[in-house]
Amino acid sequence: MSKQYMPQRVIFTPASFEYDAGKRIYDYFTSVKGVDIVRASMNKIKEYIPGESGKEKYINSKRTLVITTKTGAKLDVCKPSADYQFSLVTNCPGHCEYCYLQTTQGEKPFLRVYVNLEDIFDTIKKHIELKNDITTFEAASLGDPIALEHITGCIADTIRFFSTLDKGRLRIVTKYDNVDSLLSINHKKHTRFRVSVNSRYVIKNFEHNTSGFDERIDAAAKIASAGYPIGFIIAPIMHYDKWENEYTELLDLLNRKVRLKGYSPDITFELIQHRFTETAKSFILERFPNTKLDMDENKRKLKWGKFGRFKYVYTKDISDNIKAFIQKLIYDRFSNAKIEYYT
Ligand code: SF4
Repeated sequence: MSKQYMPQRVIFTPASFEYDAGKRIYDYFTSVKGVDIVRASMNKIKEYIPGESGKEKYINSKRTLVITTKTGAKLDVCKPSADYQFSLVTNCPGHCEYCYLQTTQGEKPFLRVYVNLEDIFDTIKKHIELKNDITTFEAASLGDPIALEHITGCIADTIRFFSTLDKGRLRIVTKYDNVDSLLSINHKKHTRFRVSVNSRYVIKNFEHNTSGFDERIDAAAKIASAGYPIGFIIAPIMHYDKWENEYTELLDLLNRKVRLKGYSPDITFELIQHRFTETAKSFILERFPNTKLDMDENKRKLKWGKFGRFKYVYTKDISDNIKAFIQKLIYDRFSNAKIEYYT
């Protein structure tokens, strides 16, 4: 298993102590050596994060974990991956160079954990009542809660909560193999785990501080053998020398490892090609000045994004080629594959 995340400092807001999960996390850190424990209100957090340059602020923020609460009775819709999204955490320990959080989390992108699970679960129940039908909820659109699960235990609580809901379905996606504590939960198949996978080249060059290529595939095999509905997100799919060979290797290994476990239900695939915005490009070049990311606008096509920004995607020829090639890799290997979208 890959090395588990440990922050340099953990900051508890006053409200976090009102909830069981907040107290549990506090107890956890009192027995861990070498982590500064701070109590501070939300508007003072940034004062505790050192750094002069943009890069220093970024690195120190990723080493800072804030334990807090989240209010709000209305959940955002989360198309195409689910009906709604909710957050147990925002951000993650990863330093993926292309991550869209580069532009949405400001110059100090510290990690947050929301411990008012009782309130969050109430909100989820109300949204199911509104729809009165099977309703899906994405828990990882603003971060990667699995990366922090050894500290929080909150995904385990959430899987158990969803197992009690006739009409609620949980969806989680992760780039981490921190899944062992979740394997024996009676999930009743109400949680679909998707593992975010990619070629060796993409993981090695752009997905720093995440679990490696083989570790993620092993984690997927464990999750499948624990009976969870499983899926894969292949994102961002990149077009580079040897991309065909490397994505073939990826699908071959997924097929072999998941098949070996005798898994037969639907395996979902979500496919997202690499894209970037002008704003993201400037953040990325500041934080990763030697990046090998291909961000040459002249080789791309502009597409209007749902957050009101233009993004650069591959030209139609390249995009169609990627789509056809990856779809064939999947359908040739998984008779039970369901490709949910390519974007
Ligand atoms: S693991 Fe996911 S959320 Fe974390 S930096 Fe990478 S892409 Fe972003």
